[in-house]
Amino acid sequence: MSVLTSLQPAAIPAEDEALRGEVREFLRGLHTQAPAHQRARSWSGYDPEFSRALGRRGWLGITLPRELGGAGRSAFARYVLVEEMLCAGAPVGSHWIADRQSGPLILKYGTPAQQQFYIPRICRGEAFFCIGMSEPNSGSDLASVRTRAVRNEHGWLLNGQKIWTTNAHQCHYMIALVRTSGEATDRHQGLSQIIVDLSLPGVTVRPISDMSGDSHFCEVFFDQVQLDADALIGAEGQGWAQVTAELAFERSGPERLYSSLVLFDQWLDFVRLPGNATPAAVQLAGQIVSQLAPLRAMTLAVTHQLSKNESPVVEAALNKDIGTGIEQDIPRLVADELMSRPAGSVPLELLHTLAYVTAVAPSFSLRGGTREILRGMIARGLGLR
Ligand SMILES: Cc1cc2nc3c(=O)[nH]c(=O)nc-3n(C[C@H](O)[C@H](O)[C@H](O)COP(=O)(O)OP(=O)(O)OC[C@H]3O[C@@H](n4cnc5c(N)ncnc54)[C@H](O)[C@@H]3O)c2cc1C
Repeated sequence: MSVLTSLQPAAIPAEDEALRGEVREFLRGLHTQAPAHQRARSWSGYDPEFSRALGRRGWLGITLPRELGGAGRSAFARYVLVEEMLCAGAPVGSHWIADRQSGPLILKYGTPAQQQFYIPRICRGEAFFCIGMSEPNSGSDLASVRTRAVRNEHGWLLNGQKIWTTNAHQCHYMIALVRTSGEATDRHQGLSQIIVDLSLPGVTVRPISDMSGDSHFCEVFFDQVQLDADALIGAEGQGWAQVTAELAFERSGPERLYSSLVLFDQWLDFVRLPGNATPAAVQLAGQIVSQLAPLRAMTLAVTHQLSKNESPVVEAALNKDIGTGIEQDIPRLVADELMSRPAGSVPLELLHTLAYVTAVAPSFSLRGGTREILRGMIARGLGLR
């Protein structure tokens, strides 16, 4: 089974592991004092000043080349950095997409001029990106996107609509998957990726509230938006292949198993208090850790593949499907455990975090591709479809 044999155990190299202490020290001085329910937002948390502070330390675009403002370090260095940020619940949302996937995408497919224009600003925390894939009638069925960019004498004329675009209201740019030729029925043919400056005339961004009351994703409308010729990123008509490779970056990291970690840690702190470590709580702690540990090893194996410039699309899907399962189990299991305790014995702040994570947990297996779609990809990887 090639899907399993390609997941080779991988250790974090010593020079990258050495970064961990430095990152912890940095975070200790900054954001760990924020209340847990706020830290639980982590990659939904928006704080441009924090992003720029990371940029000044060389921790944005850490894998990108030095000559473009990056740190030229390995995917494992980024893994350590991201893992520490998520465990601490640092507000990484503003630079999150640019750092994780837009920067690497521009490096891989962009022209030298595009690389020079965008990447140094990404690395300084001055250019934030969002992902424009989903549309009102194209989510799982992404190949049916209808937003269209038509070539004209000035470049590209863009019309259409995107939806669920995380942080579009706070980003400078979107990398959008659009149709540049053919019809929606042409599926993977005729799709391209373009970079849209969200401050251009004709772009309207409307935030949408989620169940927790936060507004972190948006509807984005394009009405006769005139883009320059160099808005196209990569080859015209190759958007599908580019987007598929990008999704491996999106689905493979520690963020796909740590979304409930701030809650889990806060609950563990409560269980550690004298008299709170009931047999049921201790058993539950073991159950959760024993699932997180092998999953972490899986994400490291996928990181190893990414570090060799491979495109582990199926492995990343496996990673996200199982990872989001445990992320969703944690609030449910913690809630069951806390319900068995006497009324008034659970700190309010813990309940506050639990309420937030419970409200957003259904989205864990939707964002970045739904469970059913990932399982279809895994079945294909096993030669079953
Ligand atoms: C918090 C959050 C953040 C997001 N951020 C972004 C973003 O930044 N950019 C972006 O482009 N999108 C974003 N999305 C959108 C996300 O990618 C889509 O919601 C997702 O791909 C599903 O698409 P849909 O909502 O249209 O649901 P649909 O595709 O309509 O799916 C509805 C249900 O039907 C199932 N289904 C659909 N097709 C099949 C099939 N062939 N076989 C079996 N079952 C199927 C799905 O699994 C799902 O359960 C975000 C979503 C969330 C929840």
